[in-house]
Amino acid sequence: IKYVYDFSEGSSDMKALLGGKGANLAQMVKEGLAVPPGFTVTTEACLRYLEEGREFVQSLWIDVETALERLESQTGRTFGSGPEPLLVSVRSGAPISMPGMMDTILNLGLNDDTRSALAEMVGDDRFAWDSYRRFIQMFGNVVKGVPSERFESILEEVRRNKGVALDHQLDAEALASLVKRYLSLYEEVTGETFPSDPWIQLREAVEAVFDSWNTARAKTYRKIHGIDDSMGTAVNVVAMVYGNLGGDSGTGVCFSRNPADGEKKLYGEFLVNAQGEDVVAGIRTPQPIGELTRVMPEIFEELKATADRLERRFKDMQDIEFTVERGKLYILQTRTGKRSAEAAVRIAVEMEKEGLIDRNEALGRISPEQVERLLHSQIDPNCVPDVISRGLPASPGAAVGRIVFDPDEAVAMAEKGESVVLVRPETTPDDIHGLYAAKGILTSRGGMTSHAAVVARGLGKPCVSGAEDVSIDLEGGRLLTEDREFVKGDFITVDGSTGRVIAGEVPLSLPSISDELNTVLDWADEAADLQVWANGDTPEDAKRARSFGAKGIGLCRTEHMFMAEDRFPVMQRMVVAESLEERQEALDDLRAMQVEDFVGIFREMDGLPVIVRLLDPPLHEFLPKIPELDKRIVEADSAGYDTSKLRKMKSRAESLREVNPMLGFRGCRLGIVYPEIYGMQIRAIFDAMSSLPDVNLKVEIMMPLVQTKGEMALLREMVDSIASEYPQASLSYLVGTMIELPRAALRAAELAEDAEFFSFGTNDLTQTCLGLSRDDVESKFMKEYVDKGIFPISPFHVLDRDGVGELMAIAFERGRKARPDISIGICGEHGGDPKSVAFCHSLGLNYVSCSPFRVPVARMAAGWAAL
Ligand code: ADP
Ligand code: MG
Ligand code: MG
Repeated sequence: IKYVYDFSEGSSDMKALLGGKGANLAQMVKEGLAVPPGFTVTTEACLRYLEEGREFVQSLWIDVETALERLESQTGRTFGSGPEPLLVSVRSGAPISMPGMMDTILNLGLNDDTRSALAEMVGDDRFAWDSYRRFIQMFGNVVKGVPSERFESILEEVRRNKGVALDHQLDAEALASLVKRYLSLYEEVTGETFPSDPWIQLREAVEAVFDSWNTARAKTYRKIHGIDDSMGTAVNVVAMVYGNLGGDSGTGVCFSRNPADGEKKLYGEFLVNAQGEDVVAGIRTPQPIGELTRVMPEIFEELKATADRLERRFKDMQDIEFTVERGKLYILQTRTGKRSAEAAVRIAVEMEKEGLIDRNEALGRISPEQVERLLHSQIDPNCVPDVISRGLPASPGAAVGRIVFDPDEAVAMAEKGESVVLVRPETTPDDIHGLYAAKGILTSRGGMTSHAAVVARGLGKPCVSGAEDVSIDLEGGRLLTEDREFVKGDFITVDGSTGRVIAGEVPLSLPSISDELNTVLDWADEAADLQVWANGDTPEDAKRARSFGAKGIGLCRTEHMFMAEDRFPVMQRMVVAESLEERQEALDDLRAMQVEDFVGIFREMDGLPVIVRLLDPPLHEFLPKIPELDKRIVEADSAGYDTSKLRKMKSRAESLREVNPMLGFRGCRLGIVYPEIYGMQIRAIFDAMSSLPDVNLKVEIMMPLVQTKGEMALLREMVDSIASEYPQASLSYLVGTMIELPRAALRAAELAEDAEFFSFGTNDLTQTCLGLSRDDVESKFMKEYVDKGIFPISPFHVLDRDGVGELMAIAFERGRKARPDISIGICGEHGGDPKSVAFCHSLGLNYVSCSPFRVPVARMAAGWAAL
């Protein structure tokens, strides 16, 4: 088996073997771009090493040696000796990019001799010392686990002694003394002398990069992003080019389009006279890429042209790492850029317009989850926020939470249900769990491409980075601005769309849907086989649903109309009534109110279907709890009021009490025992319809909790006979049923004889199929079940395909057979969950109905399901 590939031998479709970095470097070599020469040790080698250990690397070494010889002849330099020493970087590169999670070592090949040779070769002693100290630090940290802080604190001391603020202001002499101290730190911590043999350096570095596949942070990252643990990482050995050779050198990172908002414009950062991680580490705040036009205008143009070319080649937005060595541009990496949901939408739409990708491709690039993120909060435009600082708008959206400085603490507080904002000078890959737990992120240093920014965009978390006028006192647990002080636990708001940092809790509001998102959602509708409807109980819901693109109301819960303050007492009168006359009186009052509601909704939904479900919950839900009634009776009594009404209510509540109301006197059972209740509701629907001659009405009346043919036939007859009381208007309506009991699903054929449509009520169907009470189960044992792997996820969040899904399939098939044109949809919470929507698509449902706010997500999911 071949374990080592020169860049000239690979291509971008070999990512599984060469890793993303290696495969794309190879592709760029193919395209004739300026990439320093190098080779890749494959992911297969990594996996074998992780299994078999160091002996395996021994067996592979001869291939590495010959590859390095080729590198020597390509560069005209020699590994391990002068006059022109070859230095290399040893870089990790997994098949799926995990930015910053794994390790890289630069300037490998340096020792005291090659350092002198390097100094002479480039005529810059300071540079050679700078490269050497970087190498010792990276090697010590990555290979031997010497804590970076130990190196950093020595560095800081040397800076302080020299009275300079920044590393690149240190002169050769200072750097030389730094190297000495680094070497003895290395000895002190590891108990070994620093390896001067470049071959040993290389060998240990390669093994360390392989090992970095299994660091805690890499594992956490993979878990969060659902990346397979068994892929391994490749190792790239690349000839060094030097960005730290003075004012005409530098290094940077850029995106071919803005990863925060998607604008088509080179976007990124660079640092003059710097190397490698300096830009992303957030130690020095880098300059925006636009300033390259001033500092190195030709390089800017070349970079722009290269970015364009790479975009056309890879047909997606690129994240490019580059280095300039004495006026020559080298490309060190390119990959598909991570982006915010906003940017994903804009880029997909514009690339489709540019003809770079087709419509389905564009659609496929925006996940339902990203659409969900876009509907996350922004700062209420009506409020006047108390802005304490401004940083870079690194990842859009707004987040409110308590200030936390420590990632572990962020996790602990989040587990307790607190919203937290993680505040750090900068973040490192080791903070990933804290970033994940936080609602938002604030850093005082770093740029748009610093670690915090990149990770936040990937996670869809609002982030403000580089807010330089706040200072963060980690030890004291304080965040300071010029004139204010905030401590751990104080509320703060970050606005990642504008870069504002705001004191306290600011009200958030839902964003409107952008034109680009509307375009994409229209594409999704076109692609989809099923429609998306919404659940809505009020004219406002209906209006919102329509504006989010719902094609109907799949569930209008009439009981919600009785919950309003002015109606509740009337409803209670109805429930407590002892005689039919008394009940009828209350019902007459309710009827007028219901008519009003229906008129509003029907008008909003002009031309689109509205499914009205008749009363579902048990009547006791409309009465106060018995202990509450007891309390009120005592109070009324001692105040000398008449308590007879309260007593009557109490005795009614007692008579309605059930051990298990979910399985009790509710749903159509109410309508059958008290036909006057359903009769009132049906009349209210027809009254409303009759009063709207100019509206294109598509009203469907739905019966809850039906399970026998007898129920369905009786209810259908009830509707039809009431309809005949309205001879003047030509009432056109449908009558149908929910399918929310297992028996109903099984007997779908005979229900379909009277029902003209079905709607799966998967909340109740899940409860009754699994014998689980949703309201109790979530708090009691579901977490345990999920942790033990018995359920992959709560069946109330994602539809249980194997059980509930099979019942649905049976009902679907039997219902369609009995009535071929029967319309079948779903109106449970699952209607807004992308995985469940995909299942509904595969069943062949006509529509899913979900909460208005989830309509865009469901539209996307429906489009995706059909791709
Ligand atoms: P990561 O995967 O963390 O981005 P990389 O392997 O891309 O790690 O290395 C990080 C940075 O180190 C690069 O962006 C580049 O600036 C620098 N670097 C890596 N290899 C070389 C090289 N051969 N010459 C100069 N700089 C390099
Ligand atoms: Mg990189
Ligand atoms: Mg139900």
